Amino acid sequence: MKKNQVLTQSVQDYLKTIYKLQDDGTVSTTEIAKDMGVSGASVTGMLKRLSSMSLVDYNSYKGVKLTTRGERIALEVIRHHRLIELYLKEELGYKLDRVHEEACKLEHFISEEFAEKITNKLGNPKFDPHGHPIPTKEGKIHFVNEVPLSEVEAGKETVITRLSDTDQKLLGYLEEIGLIPNVKVSVISKSPFNGPISIKHADTEKVIGYEVAGKIFVEVLPSKN
Ligand SMILES: [Zn+2]
Ligand SMILES: [Zn+2]
Repeated sequence: MKKNQVLTQSVQDYLKTIYKLQDDGTVSTTEIAKDMGVSGASVTGMLKRLSSMSLVDYNSYKGVKLTTRGERIALEVIRHHRLIELYLKEELGYKLDRVHEEACKLEHFISEEFAEKITNKLGNPKFDPHGHPIPTKEGKIHFVNEVPLSEVEAGKETVITRLSDTDQKLLGYLEEIGLIPNVKVSVISKSPFNGPISIKHADTEKVIGYEVAGKIFVEVLPSKN
């Protein structure tokens, strides 16, 4: 059992979810159930199966963690997902709010050869259209030093690194108003008590809600003075 094709879609989705949630620690059954919208019992059943395949270390008290092998597979699925998203956007003209859903399905079926062809076609890209880093074939992932725009002090200049890909309606809106990765945005003023934030982008001022700003990740640029 070496190739991904013999791992079911469901196994791949669990590995991907655990990778996303684990953040250097272990993940609880409850967290996984909540993220995937399934029952705790089905998560427990699957974790036992993954453990028997040596893809996770699972302890019903401590939670679950990917093994090196499990992480390798998760990163490969993530790599395919992000390459497909970029391909859909760049080559097939998909809008930003549509790529995630399509990629979630297609990621399970493409071969490494197909992924390589996309990589070459797109010039060895580092990021997907949401700004997520694309893992390399060797499973290396680029770390970006980013903060939510809602946390940035007034007066700072930033560049958008990533948008949260969980809310497709919001993504559609952000693309429409031009707030996409690699765009520069400065924070003009912030209202107290998590109120609206005034920003400047492409010489126009805009007001966005605190919650929306929390879903836009940026890199703060060094001050000029
Ligand atoms: Zn996605
Ligand atoms: Zn993405």
